[in-house]
Amino acid sequence: MGYIELDVLNNDAPRVVIGIDLGTTNSLAAIWEDKAPKVLAPDGLSAMVPSVVHVPQEGNPVVGSAARAQALVDPQHTVFSVKRMMGRGLDDLDLNHNPLPFAVAEDGRKLARVDLHGKLWTPQELSAWILVGVLEHARQATGAEIAAAVITVPAYFDDAQRQATRDAARIAGLEVLRIINEPTAASLAYGLGQSEPQTVTVFDLGGGTFDVSLLSIEDGVFQVLATNGDTRLGGDDFDQTLVQLAREELTGQVPAELFQDPAFLSAARLAAEKCKQALSSDPEAEMHLALPEYDLNWRRRVTRQEFETLIRPLVERTLQSCRRALADAELTTDQIDEVVLVGGSTRVPLVRAKVEELFGRKPHTTLNPDHVVALGAAVQAHVLTGGTRDVLLMDVTPLSLGVETVGGAVSKMIERNSTIPCSHTEGFSTYAEGQTGIDFHVVQGERELAADCRSLGRFELKGIPPMPAGMARVGVRFAIDADGVLTVSAKEESTGTSSSIEFKPMHGLTDEEVERMLDEGFENAQADFDQRRVVDLHTELGTMLAAIARSMEPAQAHLDPESLADLTEAVEAAEQAQTSQDRHQVQASRDRLEQASLPLAAILMDGVVREAITGKKVDEV
Ligand code: ADP
Ligand code: MG
Repeated sequence: MGYIELDVLNNDAPRVVIGIDLGTTNSLAAIWEDKAPKVLAPDGLSAMVPSVVHVPQEGNPVVGSAARAQALVDPQHTVFSVKRMMGRGLDDLDLNHNPLPFAVAEDGRKLARVDLHGKLWTPQELSAWILVGVLEHARQATGAEIAAAVITVPAYFDDAQRQATRDAARIAGLEVLRIINEPTAASLAYGLGQSEPQTVTVFDLGGGTFDVSLLSIEDGVFQVLATNGDTRLGGDDFDQTLVQLAREELTGQVPAELFQDPAFLSAARLAAEKCKQALSSDPEAEMHLALPEYDLNWRRRVTRQEFETLIRPLVERTLQSCRRALADAELTTDQIDEVVLVGGSTRVPLVRAKVEELFGRKPHTTLNPDHVVALGAAVQAHVLTGGTRDVLLMDVTPLSLGVETVGGAVSKMIERNSTIPCSHTEGFSTYAEGQTGIDFHVVQGERELAADCRSLGRFELKGIPPMPAGMARVGVRFAIDADGVLTVSAKEESTGTSSSIEFKPMHGLTDEEVERMLDEGFENAQADFDQRRVVDLHTELGTMLAAIARSMEPAQAHLDPESLADLTEAVEAAEQAQTSQDRHQVQASRDRLEQASLPLAAILMDGVVREAITGKKVDEV
């Protein structure tokens, strides 16, 4: 029954939707399949794609493990922790305390950029490359094209950071179905509260961020009661305590400039992480730092107890966040039904012990803490594409939003922990005679003074007709959509004239910038695409050749000599093309093979038709 394989001639790859955990340290994708989410790993590979981009002098950036391997060889051009830079300025990064082996600069609009071979890369572009890596991984694992994705972000991400994530997806050419909070995804993955109402704590300690969320789940509605956390606390900081230990003990033994050398920074970071991970299972481990160019070969045994002393203050900070979240939600620990652990750093025994101690119950650890968020994102992708209707998802905005008023105070427009989507309109007026414009300053945060909150951006409403002070009626509207993205608009109402303004986050990209990056990304993606296409074509050729070989024997006798000669030639050419890397040549051979196999297909089809009419099998014809 050889004809079935010829179906490959009709080659439309299926399109699927996936969930993506775009992590600071690792990223991965998951998909809904057979009534459950599962992570996507190509054969023989891990599902995790290290969130690392290596930009060589020439050619395309490299992403994932291959990029991570470059951290030691070419640290100045190997970018990690991109997520910490998303939608952030240089001040936010605190580079004096967190030195990075690559050069970070600031552009005219205070957006952090990475200087790689003289080109300034935005975090959005670098993040887009990570997404390209994840998509490639997903594509290899599923054999399908990725139509769209749900992407997760830390609950603490502010508007600029969420926008930046959207921009990254746009640059990568990926349609975003929804942006959801990581802890919300984790609760979806565990499917908690399906049978009875529950209050759940999600404790997520990854490489670069810490989030704790309190969720109530009832009748399929997931509501985030409170979130707290720290976008600058994670396993990287655990690593840094060991790097610091190395520095202290090496001071005086090595030239001082060693500590500034990117090669040292990278090697120390990797050695520290390795030692830390070993200490999660062993009571003692060795930190080994070898830098031949400095004649350095340093070994140090670290006990788990010693490591725990170093990280105790960091772990205490996570517990402090938990207490604040509980206070915000007006809950006590005995009202929490379940505790879920998420993120690689929750493998650290001290972290588990402390969380268990605080909440007085064993946390959920059945799902792999590295996979939980992606699995939940896949559940949400499935829900959003109409897969199941019994799960509803409600999120809250983690920080209050407001505008600065005269004197520097903040007028809150949307309170923290408001359920989204939501909007609020408030009336403002002019304070000077004949004032024709109002300058609005949008801020996010809980403090009373605008100067103490995070500035999201400014805009001016112009064209107000001159009137006595206090007469103009300006309605300012804040709206947060289901992705947590903020839109601000203002309208002068007393005269009926309206102006709308466009809100631009301080650290966001302009549309032109996104367009340009899209173009650039596409140029690069084209090269990637070519390579991918060659791999696909080789697979396709293999399948076609096998199908033809199988069908030849029964059908050969029915082929006219001309068609047979043509097909034989095309088969030979295709066999040769299987080792060619030239996309056009491989494509041409594939097309020719398809063409030349049409008479064969027709005979087999004929067979099918005859079989259908006479009830006979092809082989019997
Ligand atoms: P992110 O969400 O930031 O991408 P992950 O959830 O992937 O991060 O966690 C990455 C962090 O987990 C890294 O700091 C890594 O060193 C740490 N980690 C992974 N495995 C272990 C382990 N066995 N013990 C301690 N830390 C670990
Ligand atoms: Mg994570």
